[in-house]
This record gives sequence, C-alpha cells and structure tokens, in this order.
Amino acid sequence: MGLFSQTPQRVYLDWNATAPLLPAARDAWMQAAETAWANANSLHAEGKAAGRVLEEARERIAALTGGAAGEWIFTSGGTESIHAALYGCVSARGARRRIVSSQGEHASTRAILDDLQSRGFEVVRVGLSAEGHWDPDEVLAASDPACTAMVSLIWAHNETGAISDVGSVAARLRERKIPLHLDAVQVPGRSPFDLSLLPAALVSVSGHKFGAPKGIGGLFVRRATPWRRWMLGGEQERGRRSGTSNVAGAHAMATALAEAVSTDVAALARRRDAFESRLEATIPGMVRIGGGLRLPQTSLVCFDGVDSAPLLLRLDDRGIAVSSGSACTSGRTDPSPTLLAMGLSAARAHGALRVSFGPATAPRALEHLASVLADEVAALRAG
Ligand code: PLP
Repeated sequence: MGLFSQTPQRVYLDWNATAPLLPAARDAWMQAAETAWANANSLHAEGKAAGRVLEEARERIAALTGGAAGEWIFTSGGTESIHAALYGCVSARGARRRIVSSQGEHASTRAILDDLQSRGFEVVRVGLSAEGHWDPDEVLAASDPACTAMVSLIWAHNETGAISDVGSVAARLRERKIPLHLDAVQVPGRSPFDLSLLPAALVSVSGHKFGAPKGIGGLFVRRATPWRRWMLGGEQERGRRSGTSNVAGAHAMATALAEAVSTDVAALARRRDAFESRLEATIPGMVRIGGGLRLPQTSLVCFDGVDSAPLLLRLDDRGIAVSSGSACTSGRTDPSPTLLAMGLSAARAHGALRVSFGPATAPRALEHLASVLADEVAALRAG
C-alpha cells in the first residue's frame, strides 16, 4: 500500500480521536496556504496581507463562539491550549496554590496536574458519578477563594461523551473570582458552545476535532483573567504566544467551525440511540457505559467476557475503525482512569469500545457495525 493511498470502502467511526477534514476547510486551507503564505508578523505588504487573513479568522471564531476577537489566541491544538491555560493561570495567582479538577480529565491535563503537584501545588481531583459526570457541588465545596489558584475541568468527555454541568460552576466560580478553565476540545459541533452565556475564564479547543487540519487550536482567555504567557521567545499573538502563526490553519479552523456549529445534533443523537438499541437487542451481555447528558455521536459499550483489544483488531480487519478508549493513550495496558473513577472494574474498563461518528458518516455505517459486532463478539466468546 502506498504511503498516501486510501481504501474508500472503510468505515471510519473514530471521530473523537480526529474528525475527517471538511471539504470547505480543506479549500480554505489551500487558498490561504497559496495566497497568505507570508509571515503574519512581517511588516511588508505580504506579511500584512497574511496578518489580515489571520485577524479575519479570529473575528469569525469570536463571532461564532460569543467571545471577542482579542480574547482568542491561536495555538497548535488542544494539548498546547491546555498547557497555556494551566501554567499561564497558576503563575499569575501568587500565593494561591490549590488547583481543583476532576478524576476524569484528558491525559494532557492529568500530566500537568501531576507536574504542578510535584512542584508543591495542592491538587484536588473530585470524583465522577457512575454516568461519568463530575459534581458541581463537589467542585464548589473544594474551591475556597482564599487558597484556590484555579479550577480546570473537562466539559465533554472524549471517552464516555459525558457532558458535565459547566454552567452552574462557571457562574458561581466567577462570583468567587476563581478562574475556571474548561477543556472544550470535544464540544464544538457536538453541543452548544456560547461563551457569552458561559462565564468561564479560559476555554481550550482543537481544530482537528471538528474538521479543520491538525496543528491548529485555540485558547479563549476572557478579558481581565489572571494569566501570564506560557511560551517564550517571540511576540506573536499580541505577545501572548510565540512561534510563527499558522495562518492557513486559522483560516481553515474558522471555516470548519462555521460548518460545525450548524450540525443537526438531534439527528446524530437519534442515530446513536438506534445503534445502541440494536446492540442491546441483538448482543446478549452488552453493557452501555455512561449515561445522562452526553455527546450525541459517542457510544461507549462493552460486551461481557470480551476484551476490546482483540475485538478492535477484528473490526479493523473487517474494514471498520473504532477505538478502545482515548486514542491519545491507545497502546496502553492500564485501564482508563476515567472508567475506574466511574466505578467500573478493571476487566470491564478493558472491554470498553468507543464508537464516535459525525454528520458525514454514511447512513448505514452504524447498522453495518452493529451486525459485524454481533458476529465478532459471538466468535470471540466461542473462543
Ligand atoms: N482534551 C480532550 C478532551 C481531547 O479529546 C483531546 C484529544 O484527544 C485533547 C484534549 C488534546 O487535543 P489535541 O489532540 O488537539 O492536542
């Protein structure tokens, strides 16, 4: 198989790891790469033209998210945004040394919290419900304004799809003047995202989760948020981030976001529900993991007695791409900390299979997966 060859008949159901590039985003990306290729910080006409494309993308993103253009910083993706949010905020909070977070954070947040803890910060990680949500009251109980530097929480979970109640914590933390960072990487295009209604101080997003190319993300820093630049060495992004700006990526991300926010999420949820009902009806011992408010296009399931690793390989052989959990940590042997925090046994967590899709997923893809799963689960159980 050539390096860039594709097999068109494959069924891709791993959108939470990365969503396919949207055609409109690809066109926007190519157009900007060909015409606005100069360094956006250069003072000549070419540089100014690139700078205008960058600022127009920032304005479009602000208009689509309910923020102001000056509150958005372009980054390389979700991981960088989360680094900038956490290190940038705690370093501006003086003697306050407590960080409140949850046991369900993405690996990037978890690693930063471990690092800050090793440097003397006190990290409080609130637990998760059996459905996968953190509890706003527990977050608030741990958030003492006298000592809390910041709160950082996942909004919608990449593995379970659980959408936690960010609205009530955001308003109450703002009253206490405690900055709240939200990892919103899985939210755009899948759940409403309006920063004029949600008073979070910092919000991280990543372009490749909603149809933009990889290598571009955003960090929203609300005006007056205590925050110091985290990356040194250049004065890009009005002195808030270093490194030559990814103008084409920003233009493509704004275009992808415009399309993502008009997604018919109710239609996605109907497809997910029909898929899960079919699995329940046809595969004995199928268990749905998580519940309550959740992303409309994510299903996390397991099948009694079946490990997800061999199942995933069999599905891959049959042309179907799914995930055994978070792609960023796939290849690991440890069970997902999020699933353990929800009270699942290690064996059950090892069996978790994540199916995530999007508006471009072919109408019969999920039905096809359901019937292939019935065969493969039966074959694995038969030994
Ligand atoms: N946060 C969540 C919830 C994610 O799902 C991911 C990616 O899987 C990230 C952060 C990291 O984003 P990126 O891949 O853009 O670095």
